[in-house]
Amino acid sequence: MMQQKLTGIERGWWIVSLENRVWLPQGELPLGTASQWSLQGHIAQPIGEWEGETVWLIRQKMASGMSSPRLLADRDTKLFQLVGRGVQLAEFYRSHHFCGYCGHEMEHSQYEWACLCGHCEERYYPQIAPSIIVGIRRDDHIFLAQHQRNKNGMYSVLAGFVEVGETLEEAVHREVMEESGIKIRNLRYVASQPWPFPNSMMVGFLADYDSGEIVVDPVELICADWYHYDNLPLIPSSDTISRRLIEDTVALCRQQ
Ligand SMILES: [Zn+2]
Repeated sequence: MMQQKLTGIERGWWIVSLENRVWLPQGELPLGTASQWSLQGHIAQPIGEWEGETVWLIRQKMASGMSSPRLLADRDTKLFQLVGRGVQLAEFYRSHHFCGYCGHEMEHSQYEWACLCGHCEERYYPQIAPSIIVGIRRDDHIFLAQHQRNKNGMYSVLAGFVEVGETLEEAVHREVMEESGIKIRNLRYVASQPWPFPNSMMVGFLADYDSGEIVVDPVELICADWYHYDNLPLIPSSDTISRRLIEDTVALCRQQ
């Protein structure tokens, strides 16, 4: 998409990102004119709009203040989404200097987020990896697990990547069986959330317990159990899809 050299008068939110990090001077995403943040002379491209202001992407590293985009996960959902877009686009361009088929240097498309090979005509787009995430209810209890990848004492619902040649529904049934040993039924779609760690799309479902006893996969989970809805362990507090699925399941438990 159209890139431009900043003169200083351009205004908006500034996503300065490289290597999955984002510039958060004073812990926040900078807002204001380019000159206010000494960004004149840098190459930038608009990637969206938030609160009536342009959101710009500058693909580079700053000397200090480069942070994980996770720090913004509990802020406004739309802002977090745009930061995720910026971080992923910066990573996409960084990993597509050369064509994977013929090895020639590539150009950026001026019209879309894509890299073009002028030699073999191949076109590359940012890749998004679909993952499923599911809240499971058994009468007035919810299934929650502590995940190995997330050693902060937090309990959450089950999640996992969709495999090649698999439907979303098949992925949910397989992940639940592999990680917990239980069978589910009445699977229904709820919502989705782009998740830039590094390039997932979380597709959220609710389901009911069908049969089986919990057998934890120790590679993926530390522990897992059924929790009564008014006696939950520590759960994610931020405005995430996992939190939403837990709350939706708790609401159904209450109706029991
Ligand atoms: Zn090529």
